Amino acid sequence: MRSRAILLLEGGAVTLFFALLALLTLRMGRSWSGPDQLPWLLLAAAAGYSFADVASGLTHWFCDTFFEETTPGIGPVLIRPFREHHRDPAAMTRHGFLELTGNSCLGVAPLLGFAVWRPWSPVFDAGLIAFALALFATNLFHKWAHSSRVPRPVDWLQRCHLILNPARHAVHHAPPNRTAFCVTNGWMNGILDRILGGEKARIQEPGLPEPPVGIDPPHLLAKHEAPDH
Ligand SMILES: [Zn+2]
Ligand SMILES: [Zn+2]
Repeated sequence: MRSRAILLLEGGAVTLFFALLALLTLRMGRSWSGPDQLPWLLLAAAAGYSFADVASGLTHWFCDTFFEETTPGIGPVLIRPFREHHRDPAAMTRHGFLELTGNSCLGVAPLLGFAVWRPWSPVFDAGLIAFALALFATNLFHKWAHSSRVPRPVDWLQRCHLILNPARHAVHHAPPNRTAFCVTNGWMNGILDRILGGEKARIQEPGLPEPPVGIDPPHLLAKHEAPDH
């Protein structure tokens, strides 16, 4: 059972996150200079969405790689949820909305606050809004990648690889769990895997049994697509 203090902290973080996001969106709207600006805003939003995937991957890699769950301070707060996720991948499908989004909002809110305080450009704001929204939704995307049933629009987004695809994410849960750390949309896994140089998942070797991920992986693999070879 989670304490009332934690619930209040997460609720406050989500409220603050959306208040800051609304201020940024209003500011961007006021600076609208016509349709010529639209391609740049869309390009910045796509860059922000991609960069969120990198941020999710680096955070995930760091927390899977360094420190222990018992490390004072950082251990119980940051490291444990990632290690627990490997012991019980499906556990996050039972988490509530605040538990899934509160920490992300807490992490991104200072960045949004700084951007509100120090305006730069509408194009930057568009990128930052997409980045923040993507990180807000990352744990939801990750949860859906482990869920045996998802709403139809979510299933469509997964199939189009607009959000984390379950079969692609299954690669991360195959031993030795050293690749495919990105969990927003998975677009940047190829680049990040090369940079981090993680040992390839054994799921990619022929003749091995089904990937060990969350709930009912053979069903998910059949439903979506086979992982990269
Ligand atoms: Zn992991
Ligand atoms: Zn996972």
